[in-house]
Amino acid sequence: MANQETQLLLCASCGAPIDATREVMKTRRYNCMYCGNSGLIPKPHNSGGIEVQTALDEGMRQFLNGNFDSAKNCGERVLAVSKNNVTALFFVNYYKAFSAATKNTKAFDQVFDEVLPEAEFEVEDEELFKQLCAKTIHHTGAFEEQLLAKFLEYDDPKEVVDFTESFSPVNIMMRKDFEWFTPKIASLYEQIVALGPTPKTAYALYTMCLKNPESPLLTKNWYLKTKVDRIYKDVILPLEKIFKNIKDDALRAKFVGGYAKVKAAYEAGMKQG
Ligand SMILES: [Zn+2]
Repeated sequence: MANQETQLLLCASCGAPIDATREVMKTRRYNCMYCGNSGLIPKPHNSGGIEVQTALDEGMRQFLNGNFDSAKNCGERVLAVSKNNVTALFFVNYYKAFSAATKNTKAFDQVFDEVLPEAEFEVEDEELFKQLCAKTIHHTGAFEEQLLAKFLEYDDPKEVVDFTESFSPVNIMMRKDFEWFTPKIASLYEQIVALGPTPKTAYALYTMCLKNPESPLLTKNWYLKTKVDRIYKDVILPLEKIFKNIKDDALRAKFVGGYAKVKAAYEAGMKQG
């Protein structure tokens, strides 16, 4: 999608040209081979022309009005020109997965599992894609790990923080168990909270200890020893590293303190058995 051939990329420190490799374009991160500076290259803008932009904007309008078939048609127009456009793929496969008479979610899953990790966004479709994900959390929430990993790799720090704050708190609160809280997603939160203020995400993670339907602090089922131990090891302990990594001093102090009480209550429950 991104067409950087016409745009010369230069090192922000020494001005040497940067080799626009696949990896550089995908992550926007470069290491200058002349001066050793590492930096972020600017995001590319729409290279598909006015036709693509018009179709994406129209698709968005139709989608937000619940006209998923019209949004799909707009997506197909874009894909004819730009076959890996993630926003267009979202329109088309959302329709197939949740709106068509015969529903097929496989292609929708593939957008997040296969296309997204390799995607090269442009400013315009990235913005639309983020809005679409936030509007459809009941379907896209399952792909939080893929989304955070992608934007952590690709985005400016402030933008990945903003996206996380718009997406993750709601999703964390909707989770029905702790299955989703993998070491991978814990590590993503750990990195994101260190980039900028994430009070809503931190609050959701704190609250989840008390309110998640599987939490022994809610169910009081301390006698389910194996489960109680598993949640302690997989959820309670990893959270400590996340709260300790919060960037802002005051915010970190607040959550590290709150967390210490939750952890103490959990350990008391474990002893009581
Ligand atoms: Zn340089």
